[in-house]
Amino acid sequence: MSLKSINDILGVLEQQARWQEQPFQKVLQFWAEVVGAVVINHTQPLVIQRDVLRVATSSAAWAQNLAFKRQIILLQLNEKLPKPLVDIRFSTAGWQRPSAKPQQQLTGLPQEHPSYLGNLSNIRRDEPPVLENAQTAFGQWAEKMQVRSHGLPLCPQCQSPTPPGELQRWQVCAICASKQF
Ligand SMILES: [Zn+2]
Repeated sequence: MSLKSINDILGVLEQQARWQEQPFQKVLQFWAEVVGAVVINHTQPLVIQRDVLRVATSSAAWAQNLAFKRQIILLQLNEKLPKPLVDIRFSTAGWQRPSAKPQQQLTGLPQEHPSYLGNLSNIRRDEPPVLENAQTAFGQWAEKMQVRSHGLPLCPQCQSPTPPGELQRWQVCAICASKQF
């Protein structure tokens, strides 16, 4: 490994470390821990502006509810942050429903659904020839077998059409012959 590529890797690691030390990244890192499993689904930390954390909420009621608790949240969050926040503002502005994507998928075109199996009318159009071919093939095979058996001598024991070679050898068909042994 060249010195240059090592320096590149170190540079990336340094950048990552610095990014993780950013106050807002710390907020994202500890938000769930501080607010808990229920609140996390109704809140989205957006940005830190002049040491004030802006958090989007799923509804005005949640914004109001959390505004009352913001001192507790602030206290717990500041314990984990390198630089303390002065306040948290909750509002519905900037809220993006986390379930927006899956819902779009469900109400989308059937082609986009994971269980979509293709256009049924296409399958119906393709199936009859396949069936016809199978039936034709079977019919031809059955006909051939009939013609063959009609031309064949019958086994004196079981009356089955038998290849002449077998009769010559055992005077019966191979099956009857094997039963005799
Ligand atoms: Zn036989």
